[in-house]
Amino acid sequence: MSVKTIALVAHDHKKADIVVWAQKNKEALALFKVVATGTTGSLLLEKVGLDITRLQSGPLGGDQQIGALIAEQKLDALFFFWDPMNPVPHDPDVKALLRLCSVWNVPVACNVSSADMLVSSPLFLDPNYKPDLPNYDK
Ligand code: PGA
Repeated sequence: MSVKTIALVAHDHKKADIVVWAQKNKEALALFKVVATGTTGSLLLEKVGLDITRLQSGPLGGDQQIGALIAEQKLDALFFFWDPMNPVPHDPDVKALLRLCSVWNVPVACNVSSADMLVSSPLFLDPNYKPDLPNYDK
């Protein structure tokens, strides 16, 4: 049974939310291998003490690194607290990341309530549950 890998990303105005959410769900998060974009990862390490693999900061390519994990079927879920109220310089990367989640049928939570539901879902916690992998060969 392999440990599932999840990615955590929060835009600047959502970083406080992801820290509170991760503190609340620290026990559940410890069940997974966690990767995060640079600044989000540093914060979660410092404030929550999570064992995290840090990627580049989002604007420097971190979102694209997560996208690559998805394209290689190496990511089991994305928790992406993106900011609907403020523009970010890497908006194309944000769109690309969300698109890849749909392309590869990867569960993605974009706010606190959906993150609560995903992280506590019996289906998601079931090691035998694997979402269908779309077949684009046809
Ligand atoms: P950050 O990147 O965690 O390095 O701030 C997040 C993002 O904007 O994608």
